[in-house]
Amino acid sequence: MKIMRFFLLLLFLLISYSAAIEVYYFQKLKDQIAEIAFDHLEEDLLELTEDISILISDARNTNKIFKQMNWVVVNNQFVDEVVIQSPAGIIYTTNAKLILPDSDAHLTLEQARIAPQKLFNENRILSHQTPVQTRNGSSSFRVSFKTNNQNYQALLAKRVEAFILFFILLPFISVVVFIAFLRRYIVLPLNRLESYAFNHDQVLPHFLIGEFNSIYMSMKKAFSGLEQDRQRLFQQVRSDRLTGLPNRLALKEYLGIQVAQAQKSQSAFALLFLDFDNFKFINDSLGHDKGDDIVACAAEVLQSQLPSNGFIARVGGDEFVIVIPDYQSQTQLEVLTQTLIDTLLGLNDCCQAGTPVSCCIGIACYPTQGKNYIELMQKADIAMYEAKRQGKGRYHFYSPELNDRVQKNIALDQSMRQALQNKEFVLYYQPKIDLKTKTVVGAEALIRWIKADGEVISPADFIPIAELNGFIVQLGEWVLEAAFLQLQLWAKRMPDCVLSINVSARQLAEPGFCEYLKSLLVKYQLDPSKIDLEVTEYLFFDHSVDNLKTVNDIRAMGFSISLDDFGTGFSSLSYLKKFHVDQIKIDKSFIDDFDSESGAIFIETIVKMSESLKKQIIAEGVETASQAEYLQSVGCINVQGFFFSKPLPLPEFERYYQKHKPAVL
Ligand code: C2E
Ligand code: CA
Ligand code: CA
Repeated sequence: MKIMRFFLLLLFLLISYSAAIEVYYFQKLKDQIAEIAFDHLEEDLLELTEDISILISDARNTNKIFKQMNWVVVNNQFVDEVVIQSPAGIIYTTNAKLILPDSDAHLTLEQARIAPQKLFNENRILSHQTPVQTRNGSSSFRVSFKTNNQNYQALLAKRVEAFILFFILLPFISVVVFIAFLRRYIVLPLNRLESYAFNHDQVLPHFLIGEFNSIYMSMKKAFSGLEQDRQRLFQQVRSDRLTGLPNRLALKEYLGIQVAQAQKSQSAFALLFLDFDNFKFINDSLGHDKGDDIVACAAEVLQSQLPSNGFIARVGGDEFVIVIPDYQSQTQLEVLTQTLIDTLLGLNDCCQAGTPVSCCIGIACYPTQGKNYIELMQKADIAMYEAKRQGKGRYHFYSPELNDRVQKNIALDQSMRQALQNKEFVLYYQPKIDLKTKTVVGAEALIRWIKADGEVISPADFIPIAELNGFIVQLGEWVLEAAFLQLQLWAKRMPDCVLSINVSARQLAEPGFCEYLKSLLVKYQLDPSKIDLEVTEYLFFDHSVDNLKTVNDIRAMGFSISLDDFGTGFSSLSYLKKFHVDQIKIDKSFIDDFDSESGAIFIETIVKMSESLKKQIIAEGVETASQAEYLQSVGCINVQGFFFSKPLPLPEFERYYQKHKPAVL
């Protein structure tokens, strides 16, 4: 309830209450006046009756009696006429023309005392009867006053006037003044304080009532405290704690403004999505504190490279988004992007990162490639993943073609999962040849996706996507099951055939991978020495899990391990020393290059290194007889390649094996 309404209600109750009291007192006032008038009448009536009772017995007193009667009429304003009656009738009257009403209209003193108002309101006659001794014996006479109603009413009106003045008019004026004061000094300040609570930008005047000033000051203090807290919170929720840079929320707001401005001025801006290539490695190898130091340092150096109107936000652990408004050309963006990549690579000097910090950057431009925060972020993200796909320290611009590819990959992702359920995957087998004996020593199981319509999809098209989205774990399990089952089926027919199975680094890093292998051995009753697991160098880079231990455990179970695609990645001698692999597989790219001087040097170096490290060596991608001859001449006896056989479907491989198995030759 509003205070003014509350006061009015209070006032209404007060007025109703006082009105009730006033009505009561008004009634009382009327009674009081009637009583006063009656007192006058009674006094005069008794006095006159007493005088008359002395005078009446003597006829000579007639004049005196009239005198007395007239005196009463003149001096008592409430008496109009006086009449003296004997039982026989009127003896004396001040008005001969007066016709007295019958005795019902008379009130005795006793009756009138009880209800004096009747005398005037009902025009009654006040009478008093008294006994008297005459010469003829005892008799009685009655003195009657005809009351003066007019004088009574005039007196009443006078008192009512005073009553109205003191009990109605003055209180009414007081109430009006009170309401005005209430409004001015209580209701208005309260309303002002109320509106100040909603809009505390306004300045309130000084109030007459001190308490209101205190409330105002307290509110002012509380609001300014709240405003400070609000501003601090506003900043806090929009800035990144570690780097002090704007965070994702701030970026979102900034882009909203930027889009509106660019729309107005018909200008363009570029959004760069930057992601470290090896942050997980940094965190795992150097610890999270050092990781934090590096991120903070990176934020600083990246910021220092931006143009004055550039904006940078940290949107994830190792993810930054940079906005470049009004860029001049794509070349300008390319130069800037390369500078950012190079700057991060040089971070080592600034914060002793201990390792090179490389990053990939995806670029999307407003308005051609995205019209809002979500679109631009999505597209820059797609471009960034494309840059990552191409290698470390790269940048890539978003393009519709890239998007088509990503969309295709997404579609592929879904159909790949469906294909596993539909049993569309099969294993092909590529023979591994011993050049000395020209026999098959084993095979590499290579997955194929054969669609319902007979179309064969190469693993090169779907394995990288399965690696990216994690489906490789599920698919890899299928490969292991299928390969193990095949080995079980070969146990009698082709007991010496060693089968190589490709295992992705991600699959190997799955918790419980060794136990899983063990369970497969039990399930298919296999000898692990007939199984070779091909892993790539990517295994070395994931430091979040103990791959070294997994590799050792796998070898301890009796499996052999081959290092696939050797020479294409970041092969380092220290890794080879740390990871005990049984066999090194020289990548096809080196074999392709065998007839160049540098190519030959590489191959021979790898062969010698394997010999000294006491590791077996195999060459893959052998396509020509001269390649085979050369490899044999340098001591690489085991080979695999189209020159001998392409990967074959099971029945063909089995036929090939039977034809070239060691015993037959
Ligand atoms: P990879 O493990 O390096 O397999 C060798 C690839 O080289 C195979 O391609 C094979 O068909 C091909 N190849 C062998 N000899 C020659 C040759 O003389 N000339 C040419 N041009 N190519 C040759 P494929 O079967 O298309 O497999 C491609 C890649 O897909 C594999 O490379 C491997 O990384 C992956 N992959 C295949 N099957 C599996 C699997 O079961 N699991 C996993 N994780 N990856 C697999
Ligand atoms: Ca392989
Ligand atoms: Ca390979």
